[in-house]
Amino acid sequence: MIETNTDWQDLREGIRSVCKKFSEDYWRELDQKRKYPTKFVNELTNAGYLACLIPEKYGGSGLNIRAASVILEEIHRSGGNGAACHAQMYIMGSLLKHGSEYLKDKYLSNIANGDLRLQAFGVTEPTSGTDTMSIKTYAVKKGDKYNINGQKIWTSRAEYSDLMLLLAKTNKEEKNKRNSLSLFLIDMRPYINKEINIKPIKTMINHSSTEVFFDNLEVNENCLIGEEGRGFEYILDGLNAERLLIAAECIGDAKYFIDKSTKYANDREVFGRPIGKNQAIQFPIAKAYSRMIAAELLLQKGCNLYDNKKNCGQEANIAKLLSAEASWDAAEATMQTFGGFSFSEEYHIERKFRETRLYQIAPVSTNMILAYVSHKILGFPRSY
Ligand SMILES: Cc1cc2nc3c(=O)[nH]c(=O)nc-3n(C[C@H](O)[C@H](O)[C@H](O)COP(=O)(O)OP(=O)(O)OC[C@H]3O[C@@H](n4cnc5c(N)ncnc54)[C@H](O)[C@@H]3O)c2cc1C
Repeated sequence: MIETNTDWQDLREGIRSVCKKFSEDYWRELDQKRKYPTKFVNELTNAGYLACLIPEKYGGSGLNIRAASVILEEIHRSGGNGAACHAQMYIMGSLLKHGSEYLKDKYLSNIANGDLRLQAFGVTEPTSGTDTMSIKTYAVKKGDKYNINGQKIWTSRAEYSDLMLLLAKTNKEEKNKRNSLSLFLIDMRPYINKEINIKPIKTMINHSSTEVFFDNLEVNENCLIGEEGRGFEYILDGLNAERLLIAAECIGDAKYFIDKSTKYANDREVFGRPIGKNQAIQFPIAKAYSRMIAAELLLQKGCNLYDNKKNCGQEANIAKLLSAEASWDAAEATMQTFGGFSFSEEYHIERKFRETRLYQIAPVSTNMILAYVSHKILGFPRSY
């Protein structure tokens, strides 16, 4: 097994011992049946890993983003997938940084002890896509309540979450679209199959993604996170954490593929010698490894800046871009190394190959990171 860093070694050992209980066969069976990994998520919750970012005073372990990234990396390098539960880590920042004391007191300790799940993040809509500021889900204030109507798409894990962080428009007149959106923490439980309806989407990976429909949902104004009209700003504020955590999942995938392909290339004999003797097999794996190492260093730097409350926009975005490319390179090299066997479900490669492709598109597409680098760092005129 390749070891490229030694930080958080005890945490790595702890999460590895949990992951060992969930073999690749476990993940394959869930993938085939499109089932949620309830047992795995419960085990992680009970061991406290999903509450790693929740402050100790609310029953969490109060760790930092680097620790969270190590947890997700190890899940992915074991052959598993953190998507079933990673949102609890990357949307936590919005509640911690901008949520009221009322919301924190009401929910955080219950999330930390596993009684409540905060796994759903409702941003994307069918007509707005990447253009978040054009969302149409509308929350109109009536007295001390908000009345919410609209539709989200791709809301992952909505069926396996009690709470949803929801972005909605609260001001249709506001000329500056940036100031027209607000963020809510919705307890979905009383409204399911009534004012909130969830419809699963069939996808190429096992991701529990759904469409969510809001029909005259009435919630108390105390569900609002921070101030009305500042939701987009809060979302942007949380994106660096999301970028870093997803980059860590990609690094985990890249290591998984590099371990698998290196072992297989050394074991598999064709023409009377291991296929790994051919540079055509060695070099793509070596290239993916080199890219992974570079991406991993940038990820560590980004986490370090984030944890020291410094601006990490450049590092978080580029780490996500390079990690997603490294995991895809490693996946591609592994497919080629396994040859025909890579197509067999038995070897697990095809499942991980499908899964790691997602990171070029979601949660943020490669194009939008390149646009960020072009506009914000290189100073090119905005293209949209
Ligand atoms: C499995 C899965 C899970 C997801 N989970 C969630 C979730 O939990 N919550 C949530 O809110 N969303 C979720 N998403 C949505 C995801 O964030 C969006 O799919 C993504 O942001 C892109 O939006 P879109 O699919 O509508 O693409 P579009 O906006 O239609 O874009 C299509 C393509 O055009 C490119 N493009 C668009 N505009 C530009 C431009 N100006 N310059 C260059 N390229 C451009 C995009 O990068 C993309 O490659 C999920 C998506 C998937 C597939």
